[in-house]
Amino acid sequence: MSEGTARPAAREVRRHKWWGWGQDDVSFRYDNKPAFVPLARTKIGIDLEVAQPGPEPDLARLEVPATTLPEEVRGRLAAVVGEDNLVLEDEFRVLHSFGRSLPDLVRVRAGGYERLVDAVVYPGSEAEIEQILRIALEQDLVLIPYGGGSCISGSVTPDPAETRPVVTLNMGRMDRVVEIDETAGLARVEAGVYGPDLEEQLQERGWTMGHFPDSFTYSTLGGWAATRSSGMQSDKYGDIEDIVRGLRVVHPRGVIETKAIPGRDSGPSLHELVLGSEGRLGVISECTVQVHRVAPVRQVIAYMYPDWEHGIRGMHAIARSEVKPTFTRLSDGPETEFSLAMVKAPTSTKGKVAAKVQDGLFAYLRSQGWDTSEEMCISYVCFEGTKERVEREKAIVKKIVKRNGGITLGAGPGAIYDQKKFDTPYLRDFLMGYRVFGDVCDTGASWSMINEVHSTVYDAFHAQRREVGKPGFMFCHMSHSYHGGACLYFTFAIPYESEETALEEYYGAKNRVQQTFMEHGSTVSHHHAVGTEHQPWIEEDITELGAEVIRGIFAQNDPGRNLNPGKIV
Ligand code: FAD
Repeated sequence: MSEGTARPAAREVRRHKWWGWGQDDVSFRYDNKPAFVPLARTKIGIDLEVAQPGPEPDLARLEVPATTLPEEVRGRLAAVVGEDNLVLEDEFRVLHSFGRSLPDLVRVRAGGYERLVDAVVYPGSEAEIEQILRIALEQDLVLIPYGGGSCISGSVTPDPAETRPVVTLNMGRMDRVVEIDETAGLARVEAGVYGPDLEEQLQERGWTMGHFPDSFTYSTLGGWAATRSSGMQSDKYGDIEDIVRGLRVVHPRGVIETKAIPGRDSGPSLHELVLGSEGRLGVISECTVQVHRVAPVRQVIAYMYPDWEHGIRGMHAIARSEVKPTFTRLSDGPETEFSLAMVKAPTSTKGKVAAKVQDGLFAYLRSQGWDTSEEMCISYVCFEGTKERVEREKAIVKKIVKRNGGITLGAGPGAIYDQKKFDTPYLRDFLMGYRVFGDVCDTGASWSMINEVHSTVYDAFHAQRREVGKPGFMFCHMSHSYHGGACLYFTFAIPYESEETALEEYYGAKNRVQQTFMEHGSTVSHHHAVGTEHQPWIEEDITELGAEVIRGIFAQNDPGRNLNPGKIV
């Protein structure tokens, strides 16, 4: 988008359905996935052939408390952004009061709202953000920056006990790539841009930022920076802290800028402090990001290992080798089983032939002693670059996989994975219709601890399920490889009894997993931020004194607690 193009109006900015993930007219379908019904029955005790889903949530049936924003403040905010860009409608206030964590989805559907934001304001420039912040301070408002609202850490939700008016500042109108320095490979980008719009603007000029979190379609650059996000291609492009080189942050007392230079020694890193600050240090208005030429060739290749331990050895060997894949990912046995259950029934002749080939391959692997139902682990590695580089790296990885007991499946399954990677979030809403939670916990683990963390998390989760006498399905993948370790990303599905006990049942399982991370030297989260959800473990993670230091910085920066108070520490 060029500087001259008109900005979208508030109501044109991309937004989730108020009660769930993503687009209104998109939902998860299982009728074309024959292995999904038996999996749901055996793993979580839901018989989809018999069970009926609950009705779709209806906002008209819920009571939405009126806004408490004083008329005078409304007038002042509208004078800054224009009447159309200050929105007080119920649906907008409900949507902006929750992120997209499981507890958020429970609360947003249940109604009985304790505290909603009072208004949503959509600035169109950094100058407008500055004026809004000044009004917030003068009028003692609470201001919550908002990107795509995709956080799963409680980071955009007002404190239920907050008595002051709460205003959400939706950044979605600030969606432009301002300029690209083609020599340095740096792009200045407004912070409210959503993933697809950012990549479209970059790719039409031959560039990419390479950051693709699973939430890509409904999250923004500013949100990524404010939560220290990590995308699935971080092996090559880095986590967001490697990509964002410079920042502009609007603070109630002015604008802070960190320069976009390749290295710096200006004392403790202010730049790093802002990354992950979840709106507590100000509003990120612009990021200067590292961009790369779109690679001429991109291929995702699938591999299979007989079990997790072989797979991890292979992944570690790839991380230590001379190849630099765009991503490396290893699903454990249960996740492989889940992935196979998500495969659509073949309809074309080509698809039917491919399914037959797969059956034959699995039969052969069984004859070689592989457990193809629960143990074998699928892996994906993405290669980018010139044709020669891709071919060379594929050959090296193929050898590494073979040396570690695995086989190469090829580009077919890899391409399917690549096409479907943003569809999974819709599954959570579908499952909730049947009173089943599907959620995730992620952590970082060193190569020396990774197998131990993997197995103890499973033990802890299944012990918790036995204690409550209910089924539970857990699976995991390893992604985001580093020299010293990788991210473990656990997904779990548990049925729940009733809406009244839902959150208690959820936290019973989730907290057990989080606590296990802490007891095994891992971190509270690899890339899902702290907010309020992970706050109970922050002192264990960074020490009590460390948390005190961060608390002190926030208090000094924002003595009136106007900037997204209560988040992180
Ligand atoms: P929001 O949710 O709107 O805000 C998050 C926090 O950032 C809040 O504290 C908010 O106040 C603050 N904030 C937002 N914009 C600004 C700004 N301009 N200035 C200052 N503060 C701001 N995360 C990953 O990293 N990788 C993943 O692969 C991933 N997958 C996910 C999949 C699903 C299904 C879901 C629901 C979430 C996933 N997440 C993932 C979590 C989430 O998408 C990230 O935390 C993301 O970075 C949030 O971006 P957002 O624009 O939606 O921010």
